[in-house]
Amino acid sequence: LEISINGKLYAAAAGEKILEVARRNKILIPTLCHSEALPGSASCRLCVVELHKEGEVQFVAACSHPVSEGMVVQTESQALSANRRRLLQLYQLMAPDSSRIKNLLAVYQGEPLTRLTADTDNKCILCGLCVRACDQLGTSAISTVFRGTHKKIDTAFAQPPVACIGCGACYNVCPVDAIAMEDQLGQRRIWQKSFELVRCASCGEYYTTREAQAFLRHKLGDHGVDLELCDCCKARRTAEKYRDGLHLLEIYNIPQG
Ligand code: SF4
Repeated sequence: LEISINGKLYAAAAGEKILEVARRNKILIPTLCHSEALPGSASCRLCVVELHKEGEVQFVAACSHPVSEGMVVQTESQALSANRRRLLQLYQLMAPDSSRIKNLLAVYQGEPLTRLTADTDNKCILCGLCVRACDQLGTSAISTVFRGTHKKIDTAFAQPPVACIGCGACYNVCPVDAIAMEDQLGQRRIWQKSFELVRCASCGEYYTTREAQAFLRHKLGDHGVDLELCDCCKARRTAEKYRDGLHLLEIYNIPQG
């Protein structure tokens, strides 16, 4: 099917979200709570775009709104810029040190709000990506606690979480660097717990915790091949296998398609 974004037509597949089509075609739509691995939470609202239909405008979250034939999307307008600017100003009060928010605010020419006080102790914008990452993994070691202005992401009873395997998924997915994780001298410290780090079997660099490795081995079973390799070495091995495969196709003169 075909959709129009900012006046140009683009091919899209049924079920795709507006954000996927836009990003594939290098059209910038800002996001904070979006991750390729955990798409569509629509919580930060920065990706809201305009849908134009029969003279009417509807505002939808690009990360969760599916495409449909003939859809007309506008990703930039005065109204959208004003909305993003105001959201970013408010997020900056929640996470004043976030460079990602500062950079986005500069794009949308937003000055920091002065009539409200920034929470300098806080770093989190409560997008929930870390909780989703941990849930998706099957560990569910962290969650939102309390309500209203006291709402935050934490472990149960603010204690070191039994279920945490120190994988760092929550830390890596956080868009505003709100989660503290420290790797030092073969030890990882996160959520008030310490873990022993293990080295990649190929390059020898520390890359994950013993608990995370054991958890994935248990979870993936026989499919957990290459679990002893870091992401870089895994990617290199995959590329080598692919290259070897192509080489065999050439040797046996098998058409590549
Ligand atoms: S480090 Fe712990 S809390 Fe964070 S995603 Fe992994 S298991 Fe969950």
